[in-house]
Amino acid sequence: RIGTAALAVQVVGSNWPKPHYTLLVTGLCRFQILQLLKEKPYPVAEVEQLDRLEQFTNEHKSEEELGELSEQFYKYAVQLVEMLDMSVPAVAKLRRLLDNLPREALPDILTSIIRTSNQEKLQILDAVRLEERFKMTIPLLVRQIEGLKLLQKTRKPKQDDDKRVVAIRPNRRINHIPSIAEDEEEEEDHDDVVMLEKKIRTSSMSEQALKVCLKEIKRLKKMPQSMPEYALTRNYLELMVELPWNKSTKDRLEIRAARILLDNDHYAMEKLKKRVLEYLAVRQLKNNLKGPILCFVGPPGVGKTSVGRSIAKTLGREFHRIALGGVCDQSDIRGHRRTYVGSMPGRIINGLKTVGVNNPVFLLDEVDKLGKSLQGDPAAALLEVLDPEQNHGFTDHYLNVAFDLSQVLFIATANTTATIPPALLDRMEIIQVPGYTQEEKIEIAHRHLIPKQLEQHGLTPQQIQIPQVTTLDIITRYTREAGVRSLDRKLGAICRAVAVKVAEGQHKETKPDRAEVGEGEDCKEHVAEDAKPESISDTADLALPPEMPILIDFHALKDILGPPMYETEVSERLSQPGVAIGLAWTPLGGEIMFVEASRMDGEGQLTLTGQLGDVMKESAHLAISWLRSNAKRYQLTNASGSFDLLDNTDIHLHFPAGAVTKDGPSAGVTIVTCLASLFSGRLVCSDVAMTGEITLRGLVLPVGGIKDKVLAAHRAGLKRVIIPRRNEKDLEEIAVNVRQDLTFVMASCLDEVLNAAFDGGFAVKPRAERLNSKL
Ligand code: ADP
Repeated sequence: RIGTAALAVQVVGSNWPKPHYTLLVTGLCRFQILQLLKEKPYPVAEVEQLDRLEQFTNEHKSEEELGELSEQFYKYAVQLVEMLDMSVPAVAKLRRLLDNLPREALPDILTSIIRTSNQEKLQILDAVRLEERFKMTIPLLVRQIEGLKLLQKTRKPKQDDDKRVVAIRPNRRINHIPSIAEDEEEEEDHDDVVMLEKKIRTSSMSEQALKVCLKEIKRLKKMPQSMPEYALTRNYLELMVELPWNKSTKDRLEIRAARILLDNDHYAMEKLKKRVLEYLAVRQLKNNLKGPILCFVGPPGVGKTSVGRSIAKTLGREFHRIALGGVCDQSDIRGHRRTYVGSMPGRIINGLKTVGVNNPVFLLDEVDKLGKSLQGDPAAALLEVLDPEQNHGFTDHYLNVAFDLSQVLFIATANTTATIPPALLDRMEIIQVPGYTQEEKIEIAHRHLIPKQLEQHGLTPQQIQIPQVTTLDIITRYTREAGVRSLDRKLGAICRAVAVKVAEGQHKETKPDRAEVGEGEDCKEHVAEDAKPESISDTADLALPPEMPILIDFHALKDILGPPMYETEVSERLSQPGVAIGLAWTPLGGEIMFVEASRMDGEGQLTLTGQLGDVMKESAHLAISWLRSNAKRYQLTNASGSFDLLDNTDIHLHFPAGAVTKDGPSAGVTIVTCLASLFSGRLVCSDVAMTGEITLRGLVLPVGGIKDKVLAAHRAGLKRVIIPRRNEKDLEEIAVNVRQDLTFVMASCLDEVLNAAFDGGFAVKPRAERLNSKL
């Protein structure tokens, strides 16, 4: 019925992987239970305080007797504490406490540090009378002292270093009921720590790191294992040992071999390959890598990541990809401080640990998709990583010592530079990787994607044949993208379907099957006459020799991939006035965009739909104003024949696709053309697309992304593209065959745009009419 009142000071622990808590309490006093008031959910009782009362100490015993007992106790206590290592701060503090605390508090305190069974400790707590307490504690002290003496005797021959470890944790060994398992565990653990120390000393870490590690291991040795910090410190030291401080691979640098390797791995992308080779050549001549950090910018699936991988292969370096998309915490880059529970190093240091060398190629994927949050700006943390002047002393918060990143080759990729913070952009050299033309895609498919897919599906070229016309069909009717990822997926789908056929074919004798595709005479029309293998629709034919390749023709394609997803809808969409085709640039490449306008009775309001940004809305207002001010010149009227176009008329402009946010000034010319068509009632040519910013006075200003836009127009099968005259220089970047297929109209003012957009031009009313008065 005796208990101890205490104050909970700290609760440490977690529920994972299993519940494990450590409770730190400060004892206040003993009490006696007078009456239990309630048991659930926790016991509540009426209690009476038993000790720490003035009269309590004086009451029972005469001063002298207690004085003698306490003197004796004090002597033993001092003897015990002095046997411990005084250089440990906790021991020194204890020594001071012995002198400063009132004697009657000492039995409780010393019992708490003596390693005895819980039962014995409870007995001391139960002992209410001070005299009893002293009497019970003294034998414990004596036992502990004897045990220590014995231990020191046996450990004498050992090194000084070890003594300290033993001294601070001597209790287990002298426990009167020693637990063997516990002892072994401790021994093992001790060995581990010694091993760790040895590893630290032999590792090639920097001087600064070594100093920190040795300090930490010293602390570790003195730490009880149950402390949460023990595991933390140990993990830290293990990471420090594992890091490749001085381990690197030797660069294989031969520019000719690099060129061949890059050409073998990637078709087209000449500009990118040229720049990469320049970069490698400089490295070959000058061994010091303080070059720029390359950043490949382009739509998805154009091979940015895979070029990065090729560079690592050419150099004979390890490759590691760090996906930065959605990272919004700077500790992701730079690690957490070690004070947090569950803290870990950032991705850079983790990556180095994974690759195990200090000169890998790090691909920072999707730098444009870094987020920002309350936890700080990861882009700012990247600044230090990417700056060749600073990154030799990169300090991860977790490591807390500098790690030299100057040997790491960083390559970044992004879809757009618009969302990369300017400071980060400044550290990198941007290399644009535009989308591919249809011809390039066909080549890439046949040289790289199809062989790769065949291999992945366990097929051989003897089992499947995909002619170029089919690839073109897939490109134009089943995909609409700047890169080749979707094309790759479609080819994968075809290979899967063929794999089923081939696998079924192997059991043909036992179970003939019928293909679902009907006969189709025209299915063979694409196939060259000389080598005409059977189409997939005929694979069920038992007469066929089994090694005949399965030919993927249009019918097979429809069967496997379903009906075409994209039809050339251009001419249908342009069958009424008030529609024009604009060219838009998106991070996914160029795209064509139908701008639609309609008018209705109203009060002269302009409605814009399609999730437009402010700049685009302003373009629409500019276009209307320009048309209104030029209505007479072009003979444009509203429904009631008035030259004031908005008189009793509302205009609605829509930009599909409605779910995608759009912004930018480049739709200006398209809006003007679309509205001119609406008010004049004439159709815009169905094969012309346009882009360009407009001014209030009718000038056409240059815009960006011309190459991607032109490729999009080409993909969509358009024939004519109207671009601002000042963008003429951008056409040089476009492949010759694309340029040959298209006619380019260079426009410097809106008159030229309208003239080119309408069949037979867009007549301006002759100015001569104004002079019809005669004197
Ligand atoms: P990105 O990083 O630009 O989004 P990836 O590098 O992941 O694209 O490329 C997607 C796939 O397309 C890869 O399998 C890659 O091999 C292939 N690929 C892209 N461009 C080419 C090319 N020019 N030559 C060969 N394969 C290519």
